[in-house]
Amino acid sequence: MPCGWYYSDSSMATPYKTIYKCRDCGATSYQPVMDRAPSGALQATGQYRCTGCRNIFATIRDWWQPRRLTEFQPNSFPG
Ligand SMILES: [Zn+2]
Repeated sequence: MPCGWYYSDSSMATPYKTIYKCRDCGATSYQPVMDRAPSGALQATGQYRCTGCRNIFATIRDWWQPRRLTEFQPNSFPG
């Protein structure tokens, strides 16, 4: 029986499904970013990669939280 239902690239971590959506592409899952340590072992870097747009984020909150629409500039107050 065929058994081709796995990723041949073992560095692909399993995506995490979330209730959140990527602020950029709307994907609902992300993967932990894996990097190869000097010893050759794959390690999670602590960052996250969107499975949709492949952008990398430092935190989950960064991934789903919309960018600030308005920049607050205290020095531009008129008068
Ligand atoms: Zn995305």
